[in-house]
Amino acid sequence: MGQQLCYVDAYARSIDASVVAIDVAPDGSPIVVLDRTVFYPGGGGQPSDRGHILRAVDGRSWTVGSARKSAGEIAHELEIDVHGPPAVGDAVSIDLDWARRLALMRTHTALHALCGVVWRDYGALVTGGNMEPGSGRMDFEFERMTGDLVDEIEAKVNVELMAGREVRVNVLPRAEAFAIPDLIRTKVNLLPEGIEQIRTIEIVGLDLQADGGTHVANTSEVGRIRVTGYESKGRINKRIRIAVEDG
Ligand SMILES: [Zn+2]
Repeated sequence: MGQQLCYVDAYARSIDASVVAIDVAPDGSPIVVLDRTVFYPGGGGQPSDRGHILRAVDGRSWTVGSARKSAGEIAHELEIDVHGPPAVGDAVSIDLDWARRLALMRTHTALHALCGVVWRDYGALVTGGNMEPGSGRMDFEFERMTGDLVDEIEAKVNVELMAGREVRVNVLPRAEAFAIPDLIRTKVNLLPEGIEQIRTIEIVGLDLQADGGTHVANTSEVGRIRVTGYESKGRINKRIRIAVEDG
């Protein structure tokens, strides 16, 4: 399997690689698998990266419009190009759109802080979430949520972000992960059997979740959040929308 740097070094933006497989999507877009990549393939509410592949021998480049997991590999989908795709064995470098990725890392980390505060201070469980670069939403089982509470939550999350809390990535054996009470609330028990290693993201002192995404290394890199809306998705389920801004 190709080396997947996004899970171990979220700050890796580019790497030299070679093409190990080429396929074609139903719409005709070339699909490229490399022996190593910095791209995040999407998942857990975080969209995949975008960027470019550059071939060493002739300097030709291709736009990577998206990426996804396919049979365990990270597959890069190229925009259709009159020159056709690169070939198996080509030496390339792959670069991700870093401004977009960093915005996603800040947003993703902000959502963890939101989740951590809402659990710690209101005991509300998260049921889902989604994000774009710079904005996101989370759904909670939070029957008594009100506008006043949402203002209070915004202020509390910003205090936590400004506290400069470290954000740690850990990979634990399944049994060990299942023994952590905090992880149960994020539905670690829904992970398919057969996954033996559980990756966790910890905002030290605030939040711990089983998670596959990319995050900044310290909450101070997020900046601050602004709650841009909240709505009822039923009697119990409530949605909070946030934007991430420079601190
Ligand atoms: Zn995450």
